[in-house]
Amino acid sequence: METYQILALIGILAFMYFLLFKNKKSAQKEINSLNEIEYYGSSNVLFNDVAGNYEAKDSLLEIVDFIKNPEKYNKFNVRMPKGVLLYGSPGTGKTLMAKALAGEAGVPFYAVSGSDFVQVYAGLGAGRIRALFKKAKKSQKSVIFIDEIDAIGKKRMGGNLRGSDEGDRTLNALLTEMSGFKDSGTIVIAATNRIDTLDEALLRPGRFDRQIEIMLPDKDARKDIINLYLSQKKCEDDINIEKIADLTVYFSGAMIENLINEAALLAIREGHDKINIENIENAYLNVLAGKEQKNPIENKKQKIVTSYHEAGHAFVSKYLMPENKIIRVSVIPTSKGAGGYTLSTPNSTEVITKSKIKNQLSVLIAGRVAEEVFFGKDNITIGAQNDIEKSTSLAIDYIAKYGMDENMGFLNAEVLSNKLNVSLTSIENSVKSLIDELYDEVMHIIMTNKDKIDAIAKLLIEKEVLYEDDLVIK
Ligand code: ADP
Ligand code: ZN
Repeated sequence: METYQILALIGILAFMYFLLFKNKKSAQKEINSLNEIEYYGSSNVLFNDVAGNYEAKDSLLEIVDFIKNPEKYNKFNVRMPKGVLLYGSPGTGKTLMAKALAGEAGVPFYAVSGSDFVQVYAGLGAGRIRALFKKAKKSQKSVIFIDEIDAIGKKRMGGNLRGSDEGDRTLNALLTEMSGFKDSGTIVIAATNRIDTLDEALLRPGRFDRQIEIMLPDKDARKDIINLYLSQKKCEDDINIEKIADLTVYFSGAMIENLINEAALLAIREGHDKINIENIENAYLNVLAGKEQKNPIENKKQKIVTSYHEAGHAFVSKYLMPENKIIRVSVIPTSKGAGGYTLSTPNSTEVITKSKIKNQLSVLIAGRVAEEVFFGKDNITIGAQNDIEKSTSLAIDYIAKYGMDENMGFLNAEVLSNKLNVSLTSIENSVKSLIDELYDEVMHIIMTNKDKIDAIAKLLIEKEVLYEDDLVIK
């Protein structure tokens, strides 16, 4: 199961009303990709700096020993992996882990990112790979790190058919370089969050034949990460780590690090000398939902529609998934361009079932349906934009990846279309009928509970922020 989709299960249902704040970053990235391609140096990161990921660390410890004492393995004619692929969601510490490997082994660390190889001039990609290995070989022992390997190692289309030549040349250069060096204390670590798209040639023996999944931290690992970053900063003694770990379900290590950093910034801004629990809770809302504006421009109509929209989300969420916790429902505009939001966390992350995904879809749909019920079909707003994006994407996965739809059945759409080279309009139809069916169900729930939702919305208009206890609905 992929985590992007699971991520959708922490419900952040925002009522969007600015549409303009997007797409700033990509231009910047392209400019950077032409210079600053190789970074190398030694790493002072150690395994102690990486919290959680216990199995991965164990597996890498063996490689540390191999880099330090290759003779020990050569003597027994044991072939050690030349390449290790770390795969898993972004921000789970793959780069950190590779650095720690170099740090523990005490060898230089050479890093490139696959995304820097995209759209380079003909031949340049392959040349860069060769240059990288040449440089690394000078230090005898080293760790070479290739981030986002999927950008150069995408599946080549249809077996022997050559796809994009430039990409292939880069990939071939990498494969050649990897075959070219003997067990000598050089190890290539690659990272990706899309192992499914990698060319099989990369995963063969002698290439990245050891594959280690780096997962999102479970609760214990989250506690470790929270402790690690809190211990580097000053904080009050009474901070409830357990509670923060519960709030941060589906957070990556990077997100937790960022959360603690934001909390520290808030503490400083408020003139404390230690981080307190409120700083962490506020930082949590800021990173997930955006900063709530202190003095938003008063927009009565906006606030009323938003209140009904969010009341729809909140009610249907409580109605279908009473076990989940509503952290906060707010109709204060945020810095992320939302007019309001409903934030909930799942109470269990153990299994994602078909009915959980359907419920999640229903909750996403509920904001728009509430608008329609209370203001009429013609007065629905653009506030559901984000909900629609999320629900479409989740519905596609439900059908095309998880094989949960009766019409589509036990089929993976991507494989189908890759192998048969067909476009699948039937998926589009299935997605549409799933959403339509749920839309009707949500409509029914909202119609039959109109008075309760009305009460929640009125309370929201009055108080602006509601919590779990304010939503007594049964
Ligand atoms: P990835 O390469 O998987 O995208 P990174 O290694 O770049 O993730 O993680 C970014 C940052 O997030 C790290 O520099 C570190 O500050 C923090 N981080 C992520 N995972 C962990 C972890 N397991 N333990 C400690 N810090 C982590
Ligand atoms: Zn919404």
